[in-house]
Amino acid sequence: MNDCIFCKISKGEIPSKKVYEDDKVFVFHDISPEAPVHVLVIPKEHIASANDIDESKSDIIAHIYLVIHKIVRELGIAETGYRIVNNCGEDGGQTVNHLHFHILGGRSLKWPPG
Ligand code: AMP
Ligand code: ZN
Repeated sequence: MNDCIFCKISKGEIPSKKVYEDDKVFVFHDISPEAPVHVLVIPKEHIASANDIDESKSDIIAHIYLVIHKIVRELGIAETGYRIVNNCGEDGGQTVNHLHFHILGGRSLKWPPG
């Protein structure tokens, strides 16, 4: 857990382009953006993936969606639309084992993803 890059980012131990922060959540720009707007929303608490969400995590997951509701307005993509992506596990394309929600917007997104 101490080697987790997203834990280090949320603590400010690794630099990032911060968008938003509160006591439970940290939001920052993805280092390799796939759209004009591409930010990552993470809980400060280390949760490895969606597989680790249980009843005890329901408050933080609800809070994450409230933060998303706020930041998409600040980022100017609420009206045009955006995509919330949570990759889980190897086949899901998860490369960082700390729960994160991609917010992608600023262009028309294709469906389905590859
Ligand atoms: P995933 O493939 O769903 O696990 O997404 C991980 C995301 O983290 C990728 O889009 C990476 O570009 C992004 N990422 C990895 N390292 C950093 C970093 N140091 N700062 C910002 N984004 C990062
Ligand atoms: Zn972590």
